[in-house]
Amino acid sequence: MKLEKRTAVVTGGARGIGLAIVKGYLQEGARVAIADIDTVAAEQAVAEIQADVNEAPVMAVRLDVVDADSRRAMIAAVEARFGGIDILVNNAAVFDMAPILEVSETSYDRQFGINVKGTFFTLQAVAAHMVARGQGGKIINMASQAGRRGEPLVSMYCASKAAVISLTQSCGLDLIKHRINVNGIAPGVVDTPMWDEVDALFARYEGRPAGEKKRLVGEAVPYGRMGRPEDHVGAAVFLASDDSDYVVAQTLNVDGGNWMS
Ligand code: NAD
Repeated sequence: MKLEKRTAVVTGGARGIGLAIVKGYLQEGARVAIADIDTVAAEQAVAEIQADVNEAPVMAVRLDVVDADSRRAMIAAVEARFGGIDILVNNAAVFDMAPILEVSETSYDRQFGINVKGTFFTLQAVAAHMVARGQGGKIINMASQAGRRGEPLVSMYCASKAAVISLTQSCGLDLIKHRINVNGIAPGVVDTPMWDEVDALFARYEGRPAGEKKRLVGEAVPYGRMGRPEDHVGAAVFLASDDSDYVVAQTLNVDGGNWMS
């Protein structure tokens, strides 16, 4: 049990990679808050977990990462239920796709709003809470291989994830004096509801049959398949545990060797 007596918040934890991390943290003994804008999915995830494990220490809390009042209310609710926050997984993000000449300001604002502003100010709010407690903490930002290089059709998503990698470096160097480790995970292509949306958009923009893009990207991964949400749990546990105390401002690729999407 690497996370016993720790309280973790997982943003965007109602489904996909976030939900796998929620379950992995519970198995390692943590108390976990699923902080998501989709409260119905978050409540449903809690109910399913508790149907498996009676009285599992998991709660659902509404969070819109771009809203300051919502961030404050989330921290207060978690503190009231479980005590102070030791671990933040800054995982909530959105994705959009368009050729460069068709990228709209609305799409830009949404992706940079949630993926960059939301990630940074959630980190800032939780880090302030951790500094006030004086017990250090662990913050894990969810980046992407898309932040390591440009890709056609997803320019704004790539740029937003490059910003997450950069923020992880700066925030990590700034906050380690408070014994708050800020690190990141960069997944490759992962079979989640987000990738279902990606596949549908590729079908529209490249005229592909549904499911084809997903199959092709999976075949291109050197490991031999797309990532699964569970593939990211080991790295997320490591970066939340004492084992990573001397790991600062890093973004770890968890991508099956993926070098193209
Ligand atoms: P997903 O779309 O399946 O889940 C995202 C969750 O975030 C949802 O539960 C959604 O309700 C929540 N969310 C969206 N906007 C929010 C907001 N404003 N406030 C709070 N919650 C909000 O995503 P996923 O595929 O599980 O991806 C999780 C993370 O991993 C994201 O940061 C994503 O960019 C990253 N990632 C995913 C892939 C992939 O192939 N799926 C690859 C690389 C990186």
